[in-house]
Amino acid sequence: MIMLIDSHAHLDMPHFDADRDAVIARAREAGVVAILTLGVDGISSRCAVALAQQYEGVFAAVGIHPHEAQHATPEDYKTLMGLARTRETNRIIAWGEIGLDYHYDHSPRDVQRREFRRQLRMARELDLPVCIHSREAHDDVLTILDEEKAVEVGVVMHCFSGDEQVARRCLDLGFYISFAGPVTFTNARKLPAVVTLVPDDRLLIETDAPYLSPHPWRGREHRNEPARVAIIAARLAELRGVASEVVGQRATENFQTLFKVPSAG
Ligand SMILES: [Zn+2]
Ligand SMILES: [Zn+2]
Repeated sequence: MIMLIDSHAHLDMPHFDADRDAVIARAREAGVVAILTLGVDGISSRCAVALAQQYEGVFAAVGIHPHEAQHATPEDYKTLMGLARTRETNRIIAWGEIGLDYHYDHSPRDVQRREFRRQLRMARELDLPVCIHSREAHDDVLTILDEEKAVEVGVVMHCFSGDEQVARRCLDLGFYISFAGPVTFTNARKLPAVVTLVPDDRLLIETDAPYLSPHPWRGREHRNEPARVAIIAARLAELRGVASEVVGQRATENFQTLFKVPSAG
């Protein structure tokens, strides 16, 4: 039986309200032993914690997404810090998702950078690894992560979208690289080369569910779900010339190492 993890999902989203139990059950049947569900603002971070308390194998991350950066209030941060200070009860294993998104620019870039740095400092204070969203902002993201010494708590670049050069810089800085649905897209040009570049001990896999459905579900079925991380593992295995089980095993071990969770299988 293959062992898998989903290092990045948003189980709190309303897309799952009608059948969340079944979605999580399907993930377990597919071999997924752990799912990290991440907050994007104060409310979804609280929901992530509630889900982690409700479902075995589900863990929470709290944080403010760059899209929401300009709406974050001191109250939000107080709540997140409070939740994270009692991380065992709240089953919080990471801070995120945080980062910079210069594609959508939903928040002004200077505000995004300010809130990103603020949260990296909080994560360091709490000694929590960080889950990073970087879209068309790799230079600034890597500079800030480096300056804020984020590697000391552990870093994963979620849904990696950079080229080989960016990947090399991330690896040099000591970060993990996580691949999602886009690696399966038939028009994924740069990603296959990046996949073969990442060593076994830095590799993670994720769905970013309900977003980013992998091929062949892209477009056909809009909603993605954690069980489909098996498709990501199979694609990575194909590109790396190993069995899916090997990718699943490595990703599971890396998940346990980075997030300091006891052996989930
Ligand atoms: Zn993201
Ligand atoms: Zn996400």
